[in-house]
Amino acid sequence: MRIAVPNNILALDNILPDEPLLMMGAGPVPIPAKVAAANGIVINHLGDTMAHIIEQVKVMSRYVFQTQDGRILGVAGPGSAAMEMAVVNLVLPGSKVLSICNGFFSHRLAQMAQRVGAEVVQLAIEDGEGADAQRVEQYIIQHQPQVLTIVQGETSNTVCNNELAAIAAIAKQHDCLVIVDAVCTLSTMAFDMDEWGVDAVITGGQKGLSCIPGISLVGFSAKAWQHIEERKDQLKHWCLDAKLADQFWYKKSYHYTAPVSGILAIHEALRLVCSETLSVRFDRHLRCSQALQAGIEAMGLSLYVKPQARLNSVVGITMPRGVESKALLSTMSKRFKVEISGSFGPNIVRIGQMGEQCRAHNLFRTLHAFGASFNLLGQKLDLPAGMAALESALNKFQFSEGL
Ligand SMILES: *Cc1c(COP(=O)(O)O)cnc(C)c1O
Repeated sequence: MRIAVPNNILALDNILPDEPLLMMGAGPVPIPAKVAAANGIVINHLGDTMAHIIEQVKVMSRYVFQTQDGRILGVAGPGSAAMEMAVVNLVLPGSKVLSICNGFFSHRLAQMAQRVGAEVVQLAIEDGEGADAQRVEQYIIQHQPQVLTIVQGETSNTVCNNELAAIAAIAKQHDCLVIVDAVCTLSTMAFDMDEWGVDAVITGGQKGLSCIPGISLVGFSAKAWQHIEERKDQLKHWCLDAKLADQFWYKKSYHYTAPVSGILAIHEALRLVCSETLSVRFDRHLRCSQALQAGIEAMGLSLYVKPQARLNSVVGITMPRGVESKALLSTMSKRFKVEISGSFGPNIVRIGQMGEQCRAHNLFRTLHAFGASFNLLGQKLDLPAGMAALESALNKFQFSEGL
């Protein structure tokens, strides 16, 4: 043996903080105890128990996606693997794709389509704005794409494409398949796969669903599935081949060893969504996010996106001059054990409002840590006014809605 046993390796207990940090950034988010417990279990990936669980995951996913007959497939991988699964199975080399680009993640869909060998037209949306349905229609008429890609919530700059339903309807009129990235928004705000005519829905575990990272779901419409079945060329991706994944998800046979613990975890995450019901969950997300936004503004800070295009699932706050976002994040983490996110582009910090992040106790702790950290860094904010605004916004519904 030429490689010696490594020394100085610490056990996790000696690396991780005694008390977990409160994860209030743009994902991963805190997970419910049932999800964490499920993630600790390993079972036979091809046994009857697994088959039962897979059936339930599909039924619950159809509710969460709002689809009668959508084809639900799981992916062992990040949200990006689910994005790639939708793209490589629906986009033919040499075909035309229109990618609506609001920011980092929607641009990733364009890159994936380019790698498949499609001719990709990008419609770059001005930072801070949602895509305009009429403008998208002009592009569709001009370029005649076979596939359109779009994000519901652009996590990177905290913009929401509120005209998504209209855009999907227009694409449908022009016989164009619609791929929607709903990683951060699914189960946090309205999404209706069948009603809106969406052909592929992408979600990941660690955002809206409040599950672990590394397990994701894709839903294909009947039309998309027909397109996949009729494809003559062989996919270059083996793991992401939807027809091979279908062997496991619909035919009880082997594709690759499914991430059993992750599937159990997402089962529990979906079950909690079902027991809460989508409408109550949407309401909880909206009210919590708006209360947080009110608190931030009352402290004297500005939100990055105007109300009409603002994403509620992840709140972007413009950094005031004089404070570095790095210093803020580090103070919040070290002093208050609360983690929020910086940004890849604009000078903002981001606070998540996905799943378990939308709980009153987490909001109070986060807003306090946020305002107090600014004050420690010399940017004097009106912390009591912020906390009072949060309190009064939450109080309106806190006791009736089980926050
Ligand atoms: C986080 C995110 C992704 C990517 O998910 P990963 O699990 O990091 O691959 C894609 N789209 C959106 C909108 C996201 O928020």
